[in-house]
Amino acid sequence: MPPPPTLADAERLLEGAERLVDRALDRARDITASGADIDAHQVLVERVAYAATQARAARETVAALRDRKGEGRATGAFESTLVAAVALLAADLRARLEPSLPDLDLEDALEQAFPAPLRAIQCAAAHESVLREIGRHTAQTRGREPWPLDGVCEQVRDAVREFAEREVAPEAERIHRGDELVPERFISSMAELGYFGLAVPEAYGGSDLGNLAMILTTEELSRASLAAAGSLITRPEILTKALLQGGTDAQKSQWLPKIAAGEVMVGISVTEPDVGSDVASVKCRAERRGADFLITGPKSWCTFAGRADVLALLARTDPDPAKAAKGLSLFIVPKDRFDGHSFEMRQPGGGRLVGKADATPGYRGMHSFTLVFEDYRVPAENLVGGEAGLGRGFYLQMAGFAAGRLQTGGRACGLAQSALEKTAEYVVDRRQFGKPLADFQLTQYTLGRMAAQLASSRAITYAAALAMDADERKAAPLAAQAKLLACDMAVELTQQGQLMHGGWGYAEEYPISRYVVDAQVLPIFEGVKPILTLKVVGRSLLAG
Ligand SMILES: Cc1cc2nc3c(=O)[nH]c(=O)nc-3n(C[C@H](O)[C@H](O)[C@H](O)COP(=O)(O)OP(=O)(O)OC[C@H]3O[C@@H](n4cnc5c(N)ncnc54)[C@H](O)[C@@H]3O)c2cc1C
Repeated sequence: MPPPPTLADAERLLEGAERLVDRALDRARDITASGADIDAHQVLVERVAYAATQARAARETVAALRDRKGEGRATGAFESTLVAAVALLAADLRARLEPSLPDLDLEDALEQAFPAPLRAIQCAAAHESVLREIGRHTAQTRGREPWPLDGVCEQVRDAVREFAEREVAPEAERIHRGDELVPERFISSMAELGYFGLAVPEAYGGSDLGNLAMILTTEELSRASLAAAGSLITRPEILTKALLQGGTDAQKSQWLPKIAAGEVMVGISVTEPDVGSDVASVKCRAERRGADFLITGPKSWCTFAGRADVLALLARTDPDPAKAAKGLSLFIVPKDRFDGHSFEMRQPGGGRLVGKADATPGYRGMHSFTLVFEDYRVPAENLVGGEAGLGRGFYLQMAGFAAGRLQTGGRACGLAQSALEKTAEYVVDRRQFGKPLADFQLTQYTLGRMAAQLASSRAITYAAALAMDADERKAAPLAAQAKLLACDMAVELTQQGQLMHGGWGYAEEYPISRYVVDAQVLPIFEGVKPILTLKVVGRSLLAG
């Protein structure tokens, strides 16, 4: 048995990974004219951007381990899991970049960044014996080894976990299978506990506990149910950030206290039947009529649109299509509450809004609607930013999405955590060939990999949360990287967990089958993965 890997090993691996990625980024900048020409080199940019994301996750994983060790709070298991996570990231990013190195004119870079002694460290740090040991520990602790946090954050996590296990978890399966709406009780309890105001400034009725507290809350709720609780904070959070960036004082005073109190539930309406990733092409129109705007056009995939009290809706206020993103504005569109899978709302002056939920295999509980607006009347005072907000909708929406992506990193970690726990429980209980599955080497190895992958996604997500506290605009690319990596991790972990349940992983009776279909939506929204990698992460990395 080799000696357990250490922080020093992880630091050396990080150095190699960053050396390789920095050189790849430099060359990619030259090749794409600082990102202006990404579309002519999509495959190359995707590889480089993803590898850079993995290197960033490795950096944050090393930083988390260094901090915890410094505070004397890193157990041996925590250290070897995080070091193995860094080694897995290094191995993966090397393999990812290798086919593109000739195109980057960097044939020698791999050897220079990862000379033989470093490759040996990498092999040792993620050696199967190390991962099997992590897997054994994961099985023993049933995946519940806690991530060390400071006092306030630990209290937040424990309190939300207690609430989610007591209130949400027992109902999650029924809501999923029956495609039911989130129970009103969840919303009122969460409102009472202040979950909707965690990132709202105190001046507007929130607790302003910061993004890490919000992420921990989201994570714990998602651990119980992604759709019935874990995603409830995301939409209010997107609108909150858009309002804080560009709302008028009156709008902030009017809406933020209601959002913080959970009085106003929010839907986000950007996507249209013909417009998805190319958000700048949004066609839904908002035309001025006296003191109002009339909204006309179809929208799609508006999650929670039935129950929501307001929709944050992106619409075209300048009919000139050449204006593209500059012709878009953001509106707060009030509506009545509806339960069920379809609704119709008529306004006294003739305006109409029709909604019909699209059936989905997972992410049930909030329902995602196709909407049709016909001359739907919205007071001009609901144009976010007032007259100065005309044409700024795209920018404000993107500010909101940066917060949404951070949230989704948290959602992915929570969902993956539940998959890890249920899988650990299952492999301990299930016996084949005369012993528990947990006693087989490959089971231990796979469980160990799962724990390590989750650890690095958690490290980058928590780091993004703290960076958002310091400077939201600067941290937006990091939040996008956290979302990118954590969502892929959640998809992989839930599928691995399902395989380890064998046939029962495909049975509705076992929650892992729900986790699989829930996880699959994560890389789709807030920038579908290829677009997020190229146009958000890639563009930001290559611009500098
Ligand atoms: C369950 C669910 C809930 C959702 N909730 C909401 C919500 O609340 N509000 C909301 O506004 N939207 C929501 N969405 C919509 C989601 O954000 C979009 O589905 C997503 O942005 C992608 O748009 P699209 O589906 O039109 O795909 P498209 O944009 O048509 O993309 C299809 C594929 O083509 C690829 N592609 C597109 N353009 C390029 C390019 N230039 N280069 C390379 N590849 C490209 C994409 O990466 C993708 O893989 C939700 C979606 C789902 C499934």
